[in-house]
Amino acid sequence: MRLRLLHTLARLALLGGGVAWFVGCLLLVPFGQRLASDIIPTATPTPTVFVLALPRPSPTVAPTPTPLPPLVALLAGHSGGEDPGAVCPDGLREVDITTDVAAHARRILEARGYRVDILAEFDKRLDPIKRDYAPHVFLAIHADSCVYYASGYKVARAANSIIPREEDRLVRCISSSYAAASQLPFHEGSITNDMKHYHGLMKIHPHSPGAIIELGFMGSDRAILVNQSDQLALGIANGIERFLQGSLCP
Ligand SMILES: [Zn+2]
Repeated sequence: MRLRLLHTLARLALLGGGVAWFVGCLLLVPFGQRLASDIIPTATPTPTVFVLALPRPSPTVAPTPTPLPPLVALLAGHSGGEDPGAVCPDGLREVDITTDVAAHARRILEARGYRVDILAEFDKRLDPIKRDYAPHVFLAIHADSCVYYASGYKVARAANSIIPREEDRLVRCISSSYAAASQLPFHEGSITNDMKHYHGLMKIHPHSPGAIIELGFMGSDRAILVNQSDQLALGIANGIERFLQGSLCP
């Protein structure tokens, strides 16, 4: 009987210990969790970002303006007015030569992609006060008197140029190309003050390179002036193009 009582007490003690252990566990686990969260730094959760796979709009590209080709102004001497320039005894007129050569030069230069204005002698675009006509090259085309004691061409720029180096280069480019095409000599001795103070050179924009050419003498050089105006125009166009391309034309 005593033995049975002891056995029962032992069982109760075991049962009580188990219950105590179970309750202790229930109480301690939250504490342990709290302890762990205090000690172990919790990594900041990375927020899940949902990216919509929409097609990206292509960046707006501003249209690049196509630069205009250089503008060449050719003044056909004595055109558009009453004065025909020099006139030979047989009726050959300077204005007919200058307009013919200017028209040929225009065709050549336009075929090469340049813009070309043909100007009259006293063209309205040439305003001496505003001086707002600004071609990339200006060339006035004239021919010399109907004499037989002189032969050759000449090219000059304004005496009071504010861009003398550029205009000297223009004179060289036109002069050398024209000489090659025409086979005419340079008649330097007859560059007059009228050429150096030619009204057209005083009316273009001060920074537009300008020059004047006397194609040849309508007496001695009349064969080439009349019959090979396209060849003369080629020399002019070549010279202008070399200038626009930046050649030093030594
Ligand atoms: Zn003239």
